[in-house]
Amino acid sequence: MRIYRLLLARFGPRDWWPGESPFEVMTGAVLTQNTAWRNVERAIANLRALGLTTPEAVLAADGEALERALVPSGYYTVKARRLRALCSSVLEGGAGGLDPEVLRLPLEALRERLLSVNGVGPETADSIVLYAAGKPSFVVDAYTRRILSRHSLAAGDEPYEEIRALFMDSLPRDARLYNEYHALLVAAGNMYCRPRAPRCAECPLGGDPLLAGGLREAPAADTRAR
Ligand code: SF4
Repeated sequence: MRIYRLLLARFGPRDWWPGESPFEVMTGAVLTQNTAWRNVERAIANLRALGLTTPEAVLAADGEALERALVPSGYYTVKARRLRALCSSVLEGGAGGLDPEVLRLPLEALRERLLSVNGVGPETADSIVLYAAGKPSFVVDAYTRRILSRHSLAAGDEPYEEIRALFMDSLPRDARLYNEYHALLVAAGNMYCRPRAPRCAECPLGGDPLLAGGLREAPAADTRAR
């Protein structure tokens, strides 16, 4: 909570996740794998222009047209396949658009269902659980690992579930808190906690006596760069 409060005091609420609908949030969670958000925005704009804004529309779309729309997000063939697989999963038992019952599943059931989709890993699944369904599942990404490891709060290369549990066992189970916290870590990672040259002097966590006490040198070559 100390980290959270310091980041919130500096950055303010981040109003995440950008998306006009739960389905668009899900789409963004798949498309943001291995690419910057600005590229995702261009791909989502293409999908909107083609009217591919529901799982049903994506599944009915021409394969090449779908891939072309996803080109800006990179790995477009793989991402088209993953997006289709996710659409099939969330449509199961539903009629037409996104089956609202899917998002109403209990947290763990929803998470398991998403994780069973080919190409959906825990970060993508938790992004959907948290930002599309509004359920308290903490999202762990490269920024989270880097910040924790640089403050000696984790090694940084632990299994995903271990880092997630560290947050979820230490914080109240609160979707709004997790939503904001993840967004704040991304902001700190983007602005200050760079892979090779962290800007600790300007960072809100750099001047905190407790957190600065655990600071260790940035690794010479952090391969978890974004
Ligand atoms: S920039 Fe420095 S103070 Fe800020 S999160 Fe990274 S290691 Fe911590």
